[in-house]
Amino acid sequence: MLCKGLAEEELFSFLSKKRGEDLCHSHILSSMCTVPHPVAVKAHLMFMETNLGDPGLFPGTASLERLLIERLGDLFHHQEAGGYATSGGTESNIQALRIAKAQKKVDEPNVVIPETSHFSFKKACDMLGIRMKTVPADRCMRTDINQVGGAIDKNTIALVGIAGSTEYGMVDDIGALAAIAEEENLFLHVDAAFGGLVIPFLPDPPPFDFALPGVSSIAVDPHKMGMSTLPAGALLVREPEMLGLLNIDTPYLTVKQEYTLAGTRPGASVAGALAVLDYMGRDGMEAVVAGCMKNTHRLIRGMETFGFPRAVTPDVNVATFIADRPVPKDWVVSRTRRGHMRIICMPHVTADMIEQFLMDIGECENA
Ligand code: PLP
Repeated sequence: MLCKGLAEEELFSFLSKKRGEDLCHSHILSSMCTVPHPVAVKAHLMFMETNLGDPGLFPGTASLERLLIERLGDLFHHQEAGGYATSGGTESNIQALRIAKAQKKVDEPNVVIPETSHFSFKKACDMLGIRMKTVPADRCMRTDINQVGGAIDKNTIALVGIAGSTEYGMVDDIGALAAIAEEENLFLHVDAAFGGLVIPFLPDPPPFDFALPGVSSIAVDPHKMGMSTLPAGALLVREPEMLGLLNIDTPYLTVKQEYTLAGTRPGASVAGALAVLDYMGRDGMEAVVAGCMKNTHRLIRGMETFGFPRAVTPDVNVATFIADRPVPKDWVVSRTRRGHMRIICMPHVTADMIEQFLMDIGECENA
């Protein structure tokens, strides 16, 4: 701790120097987050000091959270869905498994989960004392449905399906998983942290949401394709009462019980998330998603002309390539667990950026 406080000018010159050390979005191709939409920033600034952890103090902000869940429930074909705003996919996945564990009490719980699942499930299972029974992916990097039944046993408390996988952008056959969940009377959590705000806006969306009776809960992140400020995730549950299974007493707050994982929770990013959805409307979101998908397809075609074949044909805007050569200077891409080059065509990734990246790739090839 500094003994004497800094002058404001000195402080902000230090902060802006540090900010200048951050990478610039004009070259970031590896992130599932993006530059927030200006209306999200404006709304966020209006709600800076609001705390959804004590909703009685902020009833207006709390009603925005309910509206956000209503909008997402409507989008996912179930207006009566329950839910709340989380800090992101990690928290939503943890909470979904907490509900499944509270619903089915067994001595040695396990969860049947795709090989392609996000690492947040490892954290969730570690914290909750749940064993992960991993189901391998098929050649297209979707969960091999034929292997799901064999992985279920009497200690299985939940199935997980992925709608928009982190590394390959694939949507599992959620219809088949939902049918198995119904037959086996199991909780099915769909991790749509990324795909939840892409799939509904595709011209021919694969089924993945509450329209399938076997789906119990869905994770979706407005801070990814929803272009909100950070942190903004959401967990939706088919029956609002499911959340009550997580209730603990909170004697000194304006509410006497809470089911959330975090205590203090930002209202600002919830306002930001709702602002984007309401400002864009379905038409606006369809246009954003169409742009991202167009860029994804252009990138795949372009990379293939340079001899970098796609690893899979993605369902959402994540492109992966068999390419073990270095990436052109200044560009940031990532690598999957299997070593494929991975690029996410987020809203900040413009058509011009894709063309520039392809030109740079071409120059590297000819060098
Ligand atoms: N689930 C999926 C499918 C993801 O892609 C991610 C992050 O990329 C997460 C969960 C974790 O989300 P967060 O980092 O917001 O906790």
